[in-house]
Amino acid sequence: MNRSGMVIVLSGFSGAGKGTIMKHLLSDYPGKYHLSVSATTRGKRQGEEDGREYFFKTKEEFEDMIRNHELLEYASFNQNYYGTPKAYVDRLLSEGKDVILEIEVQGALQIKKIFPQALLLFVTPPDGATLKERLEGRGTEEAEVVLQRLAIASRESLLMEQYDYIIVNDDLDRAVHSVHHLIQAEHERAMRNTDFINKIQNELSVFSKGENE
Ligand code: 5GP
Repeated sequence: MNRSGMVIVLSGFSGAGKGTIMKHLLSDYPGKYHLSVSATTRGKRQGEEDGREYFFKTKEEFEDMIRNHELLEYASFNQNYYGTPKAYVDRLLSEGKDVILEIEVQGALQIKKIFPQALLLFVTPPDGATLKERLEGRGTEEAEVVLQRLAIASRESLLMEQYDYIIVNDDLDRAVHSVHHLIQAEHERAMRNTDFINKIQNELSVFSKGENE
């Protein structure tokens, strides 16, 4: 079956482990998935590299990208801009590849408008208390920062219903396999295979008339 590329959005609460799921997905299924690298105005964290985790931009550079229509979607999160460069996603899709966008909820909903067939996955810990514990970061974070993060998570939770699937990350291996299987199953949906369906319908129509081609 001829498969066309698919846009997959992976969102989730900060601290839900979506970055780790992504890393495992890329290493467990080499060459199968491609991760879009976003542009952001937030500062580089220790261990991050420009062009690997993000393309790090100044506010002016980012606003130029917006003006020049270089971004597929963008959003402001925690006082910084984040956006998906359009060219890379377009190229992968035209090559029939699956591209994963690890982005927050506002961006995810913009993607759903642009690509109504995009698959939207939301990663969450099993319950609120687990998320709270993770955001408290072993007690090293200031109470105010933790509250801010919980407020963001609480707002994000209101949009969970707009996603196609909820991935509960209580067991990393299970969550990684679940993401993989959902993507693969999505490829087999009838509505994604109309060319295949048309072809077999035509073939059978010809055969049913007693013709051989
Ligand atoms: P962080 O600063 O922790 O790397 O990311 C903060 C949030 O921004 C995360 O929820 C992440 O998924 C989201 N994010 C990363 N890149 C993009 C993007 O290109 N667009 C949008 N809308 N969100 C993004």
